[in-house]
Amino acid sequence: MARYTHLAQVQKDIASGLITCEHLVEYYTDRIKATKDLNIYVESYEEEALQLAKELDEKYQADPTSVGRLFGMVVSIKDLLCYEDHGVTAGSKILAGFKSLFSATGVQRLLDEDAIIIGRVNCDQFGMGSTNENSCYGPTKNGIDPTKVPGGSSGASAVAVQVDTCLISLGTDTGGSVRQPAAFCGVVGFKPSYGRISRYGLLAYGSSFDQIGVLSNSIEDIALALEVMAGPDDFDSTASNQPVEAYLQQLDFNKKAKIAYFPAAINHDSLDPDVKQQTKDLMEQMKAAGHTVEGVDFDYLDYIIPAYYVLTTAEASSNLSRYDGVRFGYRSPNATNFEETYTLSRTEGFGTEVKRRIMLGTFVLSSGYYDAYYSQAQKVRRLIQDKTNEIFKEYDFILMPSAPGTAWDIGAVNDDPVAMYLADVFTVQANMAGIPAISIPIGTSKGLPIGVQLMANKFEEGKLLGFAKQYV
Ligand code: GLN
Repeated sequence: MARYTHLAQVQKDIASGLITCEHLVEYYTDRIKATKDLNIYVESYEEEALQLAKELDEKYQADPTSVGRLFGMVVSIKDLLCYEDHGVTAGSKILAGFKSLFSATGVQRLLDEDAIIIGRVNCDQFGMGSTNENSCYGPTKNGIDPTKVPGGSSGASAVAVQVDTCLISLGTDTGGSVRQPAAFCGVVGFKPSYGRISRYGLLAYGSSFDQIGVLSNSIEDIALALEVMAGPDDFDSTASNQPVEAYLQQLDFNKKAKIAYFPAAINHDSLDPDVKQQTKDLMEQMKAAGHTVEGVDFDYLDYIIPAYYVLTTAEASSNLSRYDGVRFGYRSPNATNFEETYTLSRTEGFGTEVKRRIMLGTFVLSSGYYDAYYSQAQKVRRLIQDKTNEIFKEYDFILMPSAPGTAWDIGAVNDDPVAMYLADVFTVQANMAGIPAISIPIGTSKGLPIGVQLMANKFEEGKLLGFAKQYV
């Protein structure tokens, strides 16, 4: 079977009798098996996906108008999203054996439109990391070069799409976890505005930052998946009531855009020369197409990472306190009393990076340090939000590289968490400000993909997807 990159093509080929959903699931299952060495899937749902595919094929045969909008869409989901009666572990031993009691709203809405979930994929534990190495299942490898990381934390979601084991993958993005792996793997990664998609059933890391995102080769498929998943939800009061646009119908962007870039980002010390050059080339290409591209001062670049890691670790320390060895998942067999149940379960269950962040977060929230760290970081967040909003009064988009460089060697930054944190410098702003952002592949350096990121004002995902589409 030929490789599909767009749902529209899949549906066309089903309509003409060339393929069926059953063929699709068989094909993707074979791909999952053939790419096992990359360690993408924590669990694949081969049998039930096949069963569902057969049912959907029959439904379609009986009445082609009876199937949902995502008929023929085969999806993988990050191991951080709940799917009823299926395991979910956040890449962590602390949730070993845990099964979801309900489906995440985003996942349920895809299923309601007849998408097929083919499996759950690896990730950095609780979404904490940029390499997909912080997982109890071991690292996922980049399909372009298996000695490289795929990025993280939705690294396996990016590889799942990159090596054709599904049509789209759901990831989560707290500080770049959809966009950075998309950049490292040469696929498109999109994070909507905060509150656009319900967070119900997304295992919380930083609740005021977390969003479900989509990785795909196709902007159209992202637009459609967003349209299906977005909107208010009784189970998440932070899900916005802002009307959901018909994103897929609005992808024709035919205006002249005003695009801002930050000279401080383009001239950042950490920036790889090829990333810099190709980002500049893209800006020239945009200018040649009649768009305005202008440098704008943004003085907060160096404050973004410290503020982000204070705020997200604080939220994580609170969110992860629920994993106590009593209610969910892992309980230490070595505990002999009540207190040991907590301490040993958490000590043995969480990975090193998660423990580092829980401790950091507990510290920045503790009395005596709260004002010095947490309150200060909240103020920095507000400054970043205000400045970002101010830029969008004048500009349609902000453009910058998705990441300072290309994919690292496996192991290269794992022992140096600060180096890993600093590499989030370009992606975190969108989460701080709650705005939509997308990473699109623009080229390669020494064979490894490079991504550029575009951000738009809050709830302007339609406009952002339409503009980005011209460069994919
Ligand atoms: N790399 C960032 C972190 O480790 C982003 C993670 C994410 O977006 N989930 O926090």
